[in-house]
Amino acid sequence: MVLLLRQDMITPLLDPDITIETRDGRPCLVSGRFGDLYFAAQDGLAETQLVFLSGNDLPHRLHQSSIFTVAETGFGTGLNFLALLQAWHSLGEDAPVLHYITTELAPLDANVISQVLSPYKELSGLVDDLIAIMPPKWPGRHRRHLYEGRVVIDFLYGDSLEMITASSFKADAWFLDGFAPSRNPDMWQNPLFEAIADHSSPSASLASFTAAGHVRRGLEAAGFAITRHDGYGHKRHRITGQMTEGLTGQIQQTPKGFKTPQSPKKPSQKIVIIGAGIAGASVAAALRPSGHDILVIGQGDGPADGASGNIAAVQSPRLTADDSFSERLSLTGYSYARWLARYHGVDLAQQAVSYAWNDREVTRQQKICNRGWPSSLFSAPHEKETAQETGLAINQPALIFPEGGAVDPKLLTEALLKGVATQFQTIVEAIEPSSESGWQIKTNQGIITADHVVMAAGAGLAAMVADWLDPVLPLQITAGRVSHMPPDALPHLNHAVSFGGYMAKAGDGQIALGASFDHHVDLNNPPPIDDALHQSNIDTLPPSIAMEIESDLSHWSGRTSFRLATADRSPIAGQVGDGLYVIAALGARGMVTGPILGQHIGALILQTPSPLDRGAIALVDPYRFSARQGL
Ligand code: SAM
Repeated sequence: MVLLLRQDMITPLLDPDITIETRDGRPCLVSGRFGDLYFAAQDGLAETQLVFLSGNDLPHRLHQSSIFTVAETGFGTGLNFLALLQAWHSLGEDAPVLHYITTELAPLDANVISQVLSPYKELSGLVDDLIAIMPPKWPGRHRRHLYEGRVVIDFLYGDSLEMITASSFKADAWFLDGFAPSRNPDMWQNPLFEAIADHSSPSASLASFTAAGHVRRGLEAAGFAITRHDGYGHKRHRITGQMTEGLTGQIQQTPKGFKTPQSPKKPSQKIVIIGAGIAGASVAAALRPSGHDILVIGQGDGPADGASGNIAAVQSPRLTADDSFSERLSLTGYSYARWLARYHGVDLAQQAVSYAWNDREVTRQQKICNRGWPSSLFSAPHEKETAQETGLAINQPALIFPEGGAVDPKLLTEALLKGVATQFQTIVEAIEPSSESGWQIKTNQGIITADHVVMAAGAGLAAMVADWLDPVLPLQITAGRVSHMPPDALPHLNHAVSFGGYMAKAGDGQIALGASFDHHVDLNNPPPIDDALHQSNIDTLPPSIAMEIESDLSHWSGRTSFRLATADRSPIAGQVGDGLYVIAALGARGMVTGPILGQHIGALILQTPSPLDRGAIALVDPYRFSARQGL
C-alpha cells in the first residue's frame, strides 16, 4: 500500500462558520457552511443516545470488553462522545479502557461547546473534562486522555477520508455523523465507506442518523449488513450496520433483537520494560490502564539516570519544508508531549523560539512559513518584534511556537512511572526466548520472566543487542554535554530557545545550555565537565547573546549523558520478535517524540489504536534498515 504525502501546502482546517440561535428556549448551533444543525434542537442528547449508543448496542458491549474502540466522523460539539462517556461512567469499575477516534475538519472553540451544551446539566462535569483536553487547532493528530488513561481520545483534525485512511486502528463501533449527506456530499462517498470497513474489527457495528439510499448501498458494498429503523424526532429513518465478516463468528442475540458479537476480556500478561528513562516510562504509562502486570527495570539507582535526567529540555516540533512523515511524527509527538507536560505540571517555559542559525535554516524556515500553517502552531514575526517578545537581542529570523516550551525531563519521567512497579540497580545480561513464559531476562539480580519484553534502554541498547540485532539496527552513540549556567548569567530568559543548540531555564533557575554532539566518547569514562566545554557551548550561541553572558565560568556546572541515534536520524519503535519490542534512538528529541512513541508501542502490545500516522509508523519501523539492505 502506497503511503501518500501531500506536497508543499497543508490542507487547512476550515472555519466552522457557526451561529448560535435560540429555539424552544435552548441554544441551537447552526452551521452556515453546511446549512445544517449540529444536533436536534429539542433534545440532542436523547437523539444521540438512541441513534449512536443504542444503535451500536452500547453500553451493553462495553460491559463485556476489557478494551473497546469507537470511531466517529465529525466530532462537532462532542455530544456523541459525551453521551458515550456518560454510559462508560455508569459501568464504574467494569468499564473497559475506551479508545475514541474522531475526525473533525472545522473544530469548534471550547467556549462554543460549553455554551451550546449548557442545557444538558447531566453532562456538565463531562463537558469540563472535555474542554480541559481540547487540542490546539492545527491539522493533524492529537492524542489526549482522561481518567488516568482509561479513556484515550485521538482527535484527527482534517478530512475524514484522509485522516482515517492514514490511520492504524480497528474500530468495534462507528458513529457516522457529519451533517446530512445532501448538505455535505463531499464526505459521504464510497471511498470513505471502504476506509471505514478497512478500519473495522470483524465484529464491528455502525450507526448513523441518516438512511440516505447511497449511504446504505455504499456501506453494504463495503461489507456491512445495514438495517433501517424509525428515526428520532422529525427524521424518518436511521440505520445500524454490522460487519458481515463478524456475522459468521461468535454472535449473541441481544434482547433488542439485533446481533452483537462479543469482544471478550483478556487474561493478564506480564510485560517487562527494560529502561526507566522517558522511553520506558512512556511505554509503562501507555500500558498501565490495561491492568496487565508491568515491571520497569533500570540499571541506575532511580528513574531517568540517562539523557532523561537533564535539568531542562526544549519541546518544539521539527517542521520540514514539505509534508513528510518525520514532520507528522514530530507534530503528533509535540501536541501530546506539551499537553502531558502541562497535565503533570512539569512544564518550564510557556513558548519555544526556534532561530534560523544559518542561511540554510533561513531558507528552510521561509519554506515552512509558505505552507499555510495556522498561527496556533507558530508565528514568524519580524526580527524586532521577536526581540521585543522574547527580551533577547537576537537579530535573526525565528519561528515562535505559542504552545511550545520546555519541560523538566526527570519529573515528566517520574510522573509517567507513577503507579508502575519498578526495580532498579538491575543490569540486563541476556534476553532469551523461554519455552515456558515467552521470554526470560537474565540480570545481575536473577532471572525475570515475561510474556512481552520492551527494550527501552537508551544508549544501553547498543550493547544489549550488539550480537544479534546489529545488521537490523545501525546505531550510533553520541555524548550530549550540557552546561548549567547560574540564573544570573542570563536573568531575562523566559522562553525555551533553540538555535542549533538549545537554552532553557530549569525549575531551580539554572539555565541549561547545550548540548554538544561528541562522537567517540567512552561511555564508561566521559571527560570531565570543564571550562573548555562551557566555552564551546557558549560559542554555539548567537553572538549577541554570547556577549551578554557572564564570562566567569567558575560557578558553572554541567552534565554528560549519552544518546542513541540511527543512521537516518529517525527513532526506532516497533516489534522485533514475537513478544519483543524496541523503542530507542530518540536522539536529542526524546521529550517530543518519546511519549507518543511509548503510546505506539503500547498500541502494538495491546492491539489498540496507534496514535501515529501509518507513514510515521513505517518511518520508525525497526526493520526499515534491513528491508533497505534486502536482509
Ligand atoms: N456529533 C456532533 C456533535 O455532537 O456535535 C455533530 C457533528 S456535526 C452534525 C458534523 C461535524 O462534521 C461538524 O463538526 C463538521 O465540521 C464535521 N465535518 C464535516 N465534514 C467533514 C469532513 N469531511 N471531515 C471531518 N469532519 C467533517
